Amino acid sequence: MVKETGYYDVLGVKPTATSDELKKAYRKLALKYHPDKNPNEGEKFKHISQAYEVLSNEEKRKIYDQGGEQALKEGGTGGGNFTSPMDIFDMFFGGGMRRGREKKVKDVIHQMNVTLEELYNGAVRKLALQKHVICSKCEGQGGKKPPEKCPSCRGTGMQVRIQQLGPGMVSQVQSMCGECRGQGERISPKDRCKTCEGKKVVKDRKILEVHVDKGMEDGQKVVFSGEGDQEPGLEPGDIIIVLDEKEHPVFSRRANNDLTMQMHISLVEALCGFQKQIKTLDDRTIVISTIPGEVIKNAEVKAVLGEGMPQYKNPFEKGRLLIQFLVDFPPHIPLDRISRLEKILPNRPGVMIPDESEECQLIEMDRSQRSRRHNHSLYDEDDDDHHGGRQHVQCQTS
Ligand SMILES: [Zn+2]
Ligand SMILES: [Zn+2]
Repeated sequence: MVKETGYYDVLGVKPTATSDELKKAYRKLALKYHPDKNPNEGEKFKHISQAYEVLSNEEKRKIYDQGGEQALKEGGTGGGNFTSPMDIFDMFFGGGMRRGREKKVKDVIHQMNVTLEELYNGAVRKLALQKHVICSKCEGQGGKKPPEKCPSCRGTGMQVRIQQLGPGMVSQVQSMCGECRGQGERISPKDRCKTCEGKKVVKDRKILEVHVDKGMEDGQKVVFSGEGDQEPGLEPGDIIIVLDEKEHPVFSRRANNDLTMQMHISLVEALCGFQKQIKTLDDRTIVISTIPGEVIKNAEVKAVLGEGMPQYKNPFEKGRLLIQFLVDFPPHIPLDRISRLEKILPNRPGVMIPDESEECQLIEMDRSQRSRRHNHSLYDEDDDDHHGGRQHVQCQTS
């Protein structure tokens, strides 16, 4: 039991979440609430980041599970201090944004939903994006004439305002010059390029073809180098597409390109054998059958070689398909059939009942748990037993 679930709730995971589940949850939410996409959700972005920072660190997670946020603040691990959400984000997505921050435009990261079928078969997906490109009309100059020194700030990029604090008390407040947006130079309105209004860049619609290769996995990145936003004097940024695997109704993916699925079989099939068909992710039908005489036990797992996911960059190599069989037992057996069944089934083991013994009643698990809670009363007060009669829950002496 954990003391608080706040950080888990922020990421939308259970307190039992594995580190992969935490990563996936952070990835989805951080991309959704990144200030580039959701400028008004700064607080939310910060909370997601803090929750991930704590839970992704084994030591901090342990302290949090035991003592909650308070314990983190008091502990000596610096748990009360958080790394900036942007740094966490950059570290998580591979630091592409940090590298040469001055020389290169910021990368743009997008998430793209892909189905398990697409990851199995490979796919080409078209994605329409908006990006800033250098204005071709003025070639990124912003106007006909070269820029002039900004008249508002005299080229400093800063504006100084005098602020009245109280009677006879003033202070100087520096802020970025609004006229030239801190650049120190501007193009006079009459010379501005009509196409980009002096901004040097224009918005452009770009269609990207994203090649989803066979065997790619959830969270994998497809990078379009230099296809991101452009700015004069800077190297263009990258567009990074992060694959987000949708849940599949039948198959789920495990390590080493294995796929798993569950299959219900009836008792007669478990005992007497069966043939079953499975629709694969590339729409073939495969048939599995038991060996004559083989009995399938409930929850038993069997593997089909070569029917798992293809290996990335080596797609002819495939993982296994692991099938877990769930045996549907009949709820009861008509009394007249019991003896016939018994004749067919392997002999029952001999049981010796000693004379001095106590006979007990077997009851349903959920009922016995409830009874343990009110073990002082003979009857359950909130009895919702469908069979009507109230039953003794005590042992009887024979
Ligand atoms: Zn222009
Ligand atoms: Zn200025």
